[in-house]
Amino acid sequence: MSKKIILLPGDGIGPEIVAEAKKVLDVVNSQFNLDLTFDSDLIGGCAIDQHGVPLAQSTLDKCKAADAVLMGSVGGPKWDALDSSIRPEKGLLKIRYEMGLYANLRPAILYPQLAEASSLKTELVAGLDILIVRELTGGIYFGEPRGIRVLENGERQGYNTYVYAEHEIERIGRTAFDMAMLRNKKVCSVDKANVLEATVLWREVMERLAPEYPEVELTHMYVDNAAMQLVRAPKQFDVIVTGNMFGDILSDTAAMLTGSIGMLPSSSMDANNKGLFEPVHGSAPDIAGLGIANPLATILSAAMMLRYSLQATDAADAIERAVGEVLDDGLRSADIYQDGMKKASTSEMGDAVVAKLQA
Ligand code: NAD
Repeated sequence: MSKKIILLPGDGIGPEIVAEAKKVLDVVNSQFNLDLTFDSDLIGGCAIDQHGVPLAQSTLDKCKAADAVLMGSVGGPKWDALDSSIRPEKGLLKIRYEMGLYANLRPAILYPQLAEASSLKTELVAGLDILIVRELTGGIYFGEPRGIRVLENGERQGYNTYVYAEHEIERIGRTAFDMAMLRNKKVCSVDKANVLEATVLWREVMERLAPEYPEVELTHMYVDNAAMQLVRAPKQFDVIVTGNMFGDILSDTAAMLTGSIGMLPSSSMDANNKGLFEPVHGSAPDIAGLGIANPLATILSAAMMLRYSLQATDAADAIERAVGEVLDDGLRSADIYQDGMKKASTSEMGDAVVAKLQA
């Protein structure tokens, strides 16, 4: 049965990098008889220009009805002055929320060929392979009440609510344990249970789940220590599971360990493994249209889509292997370029991955 994929290229470099991922998907589609069909739509600033909102209802309906969504990135200076209620990023928050994409998977993998691009010493990061599982639709980013109020003495006070229900913790916990079973069978749950009651409950629920996964080793770490350990000895981690805000911060830290944001894919998934797949980076307006953006994060996001939403493991493996071989050949986009390597444009990088797949 055919599987429908919606492409949402978005703004800035989005259309350039999604075009390269599409080239790669077309090749594996025929090589592995995947029977994928594609449709494209607008999200972010380009959707504001066309429809007046960053995510039209018709686009959302299309994405909900599809098997998976592959996105580029949204945003840019053209839309920065708009009211925050219709900014491009609202389209992204809305699609994640409306599609129930509560599990954000962010691998931080350092390809050995790029070990010197990391800000940490090579021996600390060579071979790094961490998966951060971040809860994406709850916690303090969505908790009510929230706002800025005026106190009796006339002073203004900002407030937010850090809230997690047991079922929200349980389902993200299961995602983390399931992922660990496919990897090195270690889960580190990150919280602030010494200060925040919401995370005392978080820790309790994680402990309650653990006996269902007897092969997985569960540990707990306070978020401040986790931030420190990520830059001290990152290879101690396998899967890290945490709430929305802590995950936001820790996953960016882990991203930088790998040297380039242009290499990092991500996925946001619902309870049925339907997902939205996108590079971790933004729309890079400073290089949009120059043909120098690194398309590999988006190509690797397409591989994640095949692996997690479309059960096409062989095709996903083939893409990841092809990316490794392109790096072995010394081909580098500008963001990961080092002396002695061969500089490649966005489309040359995509073409090289295609050539490896066809070799
Ligand atoms: P950014 O990730 O777009 O760019 C940061 C730096 O990394 C820039 O120098 C950029 O040129 C470089 N870079 C990013 N991706 C690259 C790639 N694939 N190849 C080569 N270099 C790359 O972050 P920013 O500058 O803070 O944000 C720019 C816009 O993107 C803003 O409007 C922001 O809101 C938006 N944004 C969107 C998303 C998303 O769509 N998920 C995420 C983050 C930021």
